[in-house]
Amino acid sequence: MSSPTHPAQPPHYAELCRMRRHVKTIESIGRLLSWDQETYMPHAAAAHRADQAAALSAIEHEQATSKRLGDLIAQCEADKGLTGDPASAEAANIRQMRRDYDLATKLPTDLVSELARVGSQSQEAWKEARQKNDFAMFRPWLEKMFGLTRRKAECLKKPGAELYDALLDEYEPDATGAQIEAVFTPLRPRLSNLVKEIVGRGKRPGDAFLNVPFAPERQHEFGQVVLKAMGFDFSAGRLDVTTHPFCSGMAPGDTRLTTRYRGEKFTDALYGTMHEGGHGLYEQGLPKAERFGQPLADSISLGIHESQSRMWENFVGRSREFWEWALPHAQKFAGGSLDAFKVDDAFRATNLVQPSYIRVEADEATYNLHVMLRFGLERSLISGELPIKDLPGEWNKRFKDFLGVDVPDDRRGCLQDVHWSFGLIGYFPTYTLGNLYAAQFWETIHAEIPGLRDGMRRGDFAPLLAWLREKIHRHGRRYSAADLCAMITGKPLSADPLMRHLEGKLRGVYGL
Ligand code: ZN
Repeated sequence: MSSPTHPAQPPHYAELCRMRRHVKTIESIGRLLSWDQETYMPHAAAAHRADQAAALSAIEHEQATSKRLGDLIAQCEADKGLTGDPASAEAANIRQMRRDYDLATKLPTDLVSELARVGSQSQEAWKEARQKNDFAMFRPWLEKMFGLTRRKAECLKKPGAELYDALLDEYEPDATGAQIEAVFTPLRPRLSNLVKEIVGRGKRPGDAFLNVPFAPERQHEFGQVVLKAMGFDFSAGRLDVTTHPFCSGMAPGDTRLTTRYRGEKFTDALYGTMHEGGHGLYEQGLPKAERFGQPLADSISLGIHESQSRMWENFVGRSREFWEWALPHAQKFAGGSLDAFKVDDAFRATNLVQPSYIRVEADEATYNLHVMLRFGLERSLISGELPIKDLPGEWNKRFKDFLGVDVPDDRRGCLQDVHWSFGLIGYFPTYTLGNLYAAQFWETIHAEIPGLRDGMRRGDFAPLLAWLREKIHRHGRRYSAADLCAMITGKPLSADPLMRHLEGKLRGVYGL
């Protein structure tokens, strides 16, 4: 049995780690309940499950904000034996525990419950408004949610910082709107031009590969073969079926993935499974067995988490080398319907680029334009520069500018995403940050693993996973996302690697 702290640690640090472990254990029970709710729970259990979840989160919140926990953090901060070396594991743990504690205690309880209450009503209003394509119906709710979220940002904001930064910080610690803007601004015209060039070419690779009969049970078996090759440990995890795929790294030795099977679009399920598998590998690589409860056993940020899922989904899964290995397996499980296809068909069909209205259905190139649109808009909405009433017009104007197409209605425009309806503001940019980090890591991985592509042709992904474990997973929250990126790649985050990846691959696919 490994102990969560070193035996020579002072008693206040040992007690702090024990208390955190207790809080995180309660949190892990909540994750198990919500996984069950999304997968196997009978419908009639929903009302009582909501009571269970509320009861558990009240206990967790009470413990995570207890005075004793705050006192112990302060005592540890003052202990130079622990924090004297800022690079030590203890100092990193204490810094992150302070951050979590402040986030949990800075918001007044009435604001937290108001956000939850109005958020849940607003989400219902959004569902109806989207269905009816009626922005006017949703507008008062969106105004309330942005108002409440602005109050939240006022409570969390650092002196001199932009309100938006306080919101972003919850998902991408230490990142700022200005930094993200600096990376996104040069990326946008380059992406828009690439997409316009592809569309202007007027020649599309065939997509017959994406529409073949493939029984869901056999797709499930194929997905498991791919996950095993990626290195997902099924003795410490599962793959189940849901309507909205997700990954829950709920506890040490327990990482749950879900996916969905839709008709004949077997690649949708495959890429969903590989995406969640990438999240799952990160969760399995965190040092939870030794350090569960400590920040050093947690993931850094949503952007870094997403870099892991996007890497496996797009950089591995949409490569020609991947299909050289995977196509024979897919053909075997599909039972004949894929037999006529070649590796090149698979590679081209899974790299189609087509501007579309809906973010979640967007391809690898246009996806980031959807995210940049939302980032710019939510930042202006929070600052008050853009009034909510002007959102649909502004959305459509920028959409045309970014993607070159006219938005036909608000249902396919500013009403499509659920995020803003319940206060997830500052969340969208982490999707593109994930793509950018993945691309930058990928270039370094190529330089450091010479036989990577040859290995991928044989389905040998072990050197890639070993690299990710060593450079990213094992550190938990020891470094910030920006510091980790600079440490691993020698450079700050930039848009160049992603553009090199997309231009290189798509010019080949489209013969540009
Ligand atoms: Zn993801």
